Amino acid sequence: MEEKEANTCIVCGQPKEEGITVVTEFICTSCESEMVNTNVEDERYPFFVKQLKQLWVRFHV
Ligand SMILES: [Zn+2]
Repeated sequence: MEEKEANTCIVCGQPKEEGITVVTEFICTSCESEMVNTNVEDERYPFFVKQLKQLWVRFHV
């Protein structure tokens, strides 16, 4: 079943137990909810997009 082990979040770089795995990459719940709540005008938005691009690049290879 589900094993609770720390994964390294690709956004904040912290080991977290709770989060989602997208393809092979892990995003912790706090970053996930932050991204959801970040709008395009937010100064952190480009950072999130940059981090997520790593995912999409790998996903489409
Ligand atoms: Zn995180």
